[in-house]
Amino acid sequence: MRVTVLGCGTSTGVPLIHCSCKVCRSRNPKNKRLRASIWIQVDAISLLVDVSPDFRQQALRARIPSIHAILLTHPHADHIGGIDEIRSYNFIQNSTIPAYVHDWTLRELPVRFPYIFSPGKVEGGGIAKIDLRPFGLRDPDFRVGDLKIIPIELDHGSKKVAGFRIGNFAYLTDCSSIPESSLERLRGLSVLMLDCLRLTDHDTHLSLERSLNYSNRIGAKRTFFTHLGHDFDFVAASRALPEKHALAYDGQVIHVSK
Ligand SMILES: [Zn+2]
Ligand SMILES: [Zn+2]
Ligand SMILES: [Zn+2]
Repeated sequence: MRVTVLGCGTSTGVPLIHCSCKVCRSRNPKNKRLRASIWIQVDAISLLVDVSPDFRQQALRARIPSIHAILLTHPHADHIGGIDEIRSYNFIQNSTIPAYVHDWTLRELPVRFPYIFSPGKVEGGGIAKIDLRPFGLRDPDFRVGDLKIIPIELDHGSKKVAGFRIGNFAYLTDCSSIPESSLERLRGLSVLMLDCLRLTDHDTHLSLERSLNYSNRIGAKRTFFTHLGHDFDFVAASRALPEKHALAYDGQVIHVSK
């Protein structure tokens, strides 16, 4: 399995517009963070997790040739804002693309994008063609082709959102706590990607301290922090992390043994 970090930034991206802090002014490319999304290649299947507002740029940079399915964690704008760009893959593949969603995302998408999900007569260049396929956050699993995907229920403030486990890899962005029942689904991981917004506590995200507490409980062989804000200078913050932990960076490719 090959996981490409398309973006590891928080909802504003890094640098923030008009911020003059050291990280936002940094020239290190590892301090430039597009909005959070990953691309997973496994058994000839190409999966996109979330469609960020930066998706066009991310798809060009990673040279994503095709998308068999999209997994959506939740309907916040930084995770679905690039959905119009899926059109390009409809054209390339000459097909509708399935998107797997839990109940919150299933409710929100038609409200946010009525022209995609309840279109009238379409003229001109067309619209994204996406087939919504619901799953339950507590379902044991669902399948994309033969590939088993285990939903991981997460608390994101007062909302329930999805993480995903595929084989020994799990992606848990946007969470403020992880229910016990979900921690049980995360045993024996090789690689964990976990929310880590900033240094201080936040209502809807994990701080570094809380992320480290969870990552130590989960005990993956390697943990990468994502959804990072401008608190983290890549070099300085990486140096301070305990072993088996690292900050993700845009463009990073992580190989996961099955
Ligand atoms: Zn987010
Ligand atoms: Zn800044
Ligand atoms: Zn969110």
